[in-house]
Amino acid sequence: MAKIFYEADAPIDPLKGKKVAVIGYGSQGHAHSQNLRDSGIEVAVAELPDTANYQLAQQHGFTPGDIKTAVDGAALIIITLPDEIQAKVYKSQIAPNLKAGQTLGFCHGFNIHFKYISPPKNINVVMVAPKGPGHLVRSEFVKGGGVPCLVAVQQNPTKDALNIALAWANGIGGARAGIIKTTYKEETETDLFGEQVVLCGGLSALIKAGFKTLVEAGYQPEIAYFECMHEVKLIVDLMYQGGLSYMRYSISNTAEYGDLSRGPRIITSKTKTEMKKILKEITSGKFAKEWVDEYNSGLKKFNKLYKEDYNSKLEKTGRKLRKMMKWIDAKEV
Ligand code: NDP
Ligand code: MG
Repeated sequence: MAKIFYEADAPIDPLKGKKVAVIGYGSQGHAHSQNLRDSGIEVAVAELPDTANYQLAQQHGFTPGDIKTAVDGAALIIITLPDEIQAKVYKSQIAPNLKAGQTLGFCHGFNIHFKYISPPKNINVVMVAPKGPGHLVRSEFVKGGGVPCLVAVQQNPTKDALNIALAWANGIGGARAGIIKTTYKEETETDLFGEQVVLCGGLSALIKAGFKTLVEAGYQPEIAYFECMHEVKLIVDLMYQGGLSYMRYSISNTAEYGDLSRGPRIITSKTKTEMKKILKEITSGKFAKEWVDEYNSGLKKFNKLYKEDYNSKLEKTGRKLRKMMKWIDAKEV
């Protein structure tokens, strides 16, 4: 079992009276900047001028500047840029301004673990990865709570990198919920696996295949949408609150028997073999290289696959039906 750190184990002192730079004022950046400031720490925000998030940072009372200015004299530099642009921005604007003894902080291990960013040995490298999106990191903090965080240390020349990471995690509210120690390797590999196999890839593919099966059998797409997509949330909410047991307690006995007896025919040993292959592609760095190459060559495959789903019958049906349900706060992209 993992060791869990709470507020008493994660004093904020290592950052008291120090400056923290937050590079990028997006989902995570806006939450870390505001929570750390509310915890009494000086925060310097770097954002691209003339962007919506630049204005947001101003509205939140920050004076966003360029990266060089933010990094200058900062004890901790938190990189909350999109993962795929971090390496480029690091090389051109962060690395040239680093000084021995500073700490670089990431919210996800991708670039460090796969060595797209290799900071000098005299720089601490830590991670605080909140287990939730930035808006939740902010809204829970404002309510007096926090989102659980993972912490990891990759480089520790000053010998207090873990304390700095714990102070950062505490400063954003993470210690109120609990902070779990991990490694860059474990966080990066499990995060990629989870999103590819279960959360995003696996779930989308399951929904698409179920919807298609019903529509091809002659059922109305609207009905198939409700059964295979809309109701996913109802079931996942039950799992989120009380695991599989609570979900099964809440659904009908008929649904429960169908779940127990049919589920294993959908996710079979063949599926598990494929999962292991996907995990191998992650641990070997094959996936990371493929994604970085795809990004650098103009995202052709990415855009093609995205458009296919965007224009699918499932998505068209959903866009129409969600307009009928005012309470769900329907979103379109
Ligand atoms: P976002 O895309 O929400 O935010 C990135 C921000 O950086 C945007 O405001 C973007 O501006 C800005 N930006 C882009 N280029 C530059 C630049 N050259 N200089 C300054 N600012 C720039 O990212 P996330 O918050 O989602 O992700 C940040 C990190 O957090 C990633 O490592 C991610 O893996 C991790 N993470 C994210 C989670 C999430 O729920 N979102 C959860 C846990 C970890 P613009 O919008 O104008 O492009
Ligand atoms: Mg994740």
